[in-house]
Amino acid sequence: MSGTARGSGVPSTPHRRFDPLRGRWVLVSAGRDRRPWSGESQAVSPAAVARHDPECGLCPGNLRAAAGLDRIRNPDYAGPYVFANDFPALRPLLPDERLEVRAGPGIPPGRAGGAEELLRAEPEAGVCRVLCFGPRHDRHLAAMGDGELAAVVDLWIGQAAELGRVWRWVQIFENRGAAMGASSPHPHGQVWASASLPDEPAAEDVRQRDYLSRHGRRLLVDYAGIERAAGERVVADNGEWLAVVPYWAVWPFETMLVPVRPVASLPELDGPLRVSLVGMLRTLLTAYDALFGVPFPYSMGWHGAPGPAGATVAAPAGAGHWQLHAHFYPPLLRSPTVRKFLVGYEMLAGAQRDITPEQAAAMLRAHVPAAGPDRVR
Ligand code: ZN
Repeated sequence: MSGTARGSGVPSTPHRRFDPLRGRWVLVSAGRDRRPWSGESQAVSPAAVARHDPECGLCPGNLRAAAGLDRIRNPDYAGPYVFANDFPALRPLLPDERLEVRAGPGIPPGRAGGAEELLRAEPEAGVCRVLCFGPRHDRHLAAMGDGELAAVVDLWIGQAAELGRVWRWVQIFENRGAAMGASSPHPHGQVWASASLPDEPAAEDVRQRDYLSRHGRRLLVDYAGIERAAGERVVADNGEWLAVVPYWAVWPFETMLVPVRPVASLPELDGPLRVSLVGMLRTLLTAYDALFGVPFPYSMGWHGAPGPAGATVAAPAGAGHWQLHAHFYPPLLRSPTVRKFLVGYEMLAGAQRDITPEQAAAMLRAHVPAAGPDRVR
């Protein structure tokens, strides 16, 4: 490594960068994206999408796809619409079910270090909901007017507040596009809430807590300040929200959306921050769609302060280390038809990327609308 990777103009030397939020490394090998490619090229078919699809299980007034159950008809909803997932990965557990998991599937008692230690399971309770962003089958977040987008932001906040009073972790997320496994093109996200803290936020919790204890400041507030001053990885900065390709990004066009001042969770967003979030979301999603001229696939989700373990109160005490942020993980590499797979070295050794975060940020920045498209509807 040439030793100047922090600044611009180094991208050709293979090096690794540290992710202080998760505590792991990513290998950066710029230039590999120009290697010959004879692998998969996914067909792009930007088929015309109707306002209302009679076959869509999420459109207003339609029957939901729930095989084996009594089919439920969606109401004629006009704004965001939330319903319990018909095929939930998590659900509240009965006392008998907890005992059943704890008893384990035929694990014999044994000596220390044996099966009791190596074959561990514990009950996991939670809830899963589907969040329809709006009634229009053809209107993704990027195309929504201010009022519609604000309603989605309020939806996220409402779910985080309600479920955060009961569950340790509330994961709000969206899979956009078939490439990310979205089951329906109807604009929608999900929320999964659980009694335990999953691995990704658990790692972020440890790292942010450690940083605050050593420096008295929040890790991601410090990081946002560094990136705003450097500028080379910034996609957009509206003075309240920063969209940045993280220094340690794994996915080619991965971004993080973070408020520049301390905010621990979605319900803490005040009126002005909600308004400026609407504008920032549109800016970022417009840049994504313009980059390759296709509806840009991604998985995105919010990371806010976890609730206290085993407690049932909101606004957890001692969340001063945590900074609210959203991750956007798009799979595309260098065209609408070539996606990145985390395989081989990444599965067996560690994360690796081909274009540098600085290159990716410059490409996205070039597609940020000058003054932000005016889409008040
Ligand atoms: Zn995070």
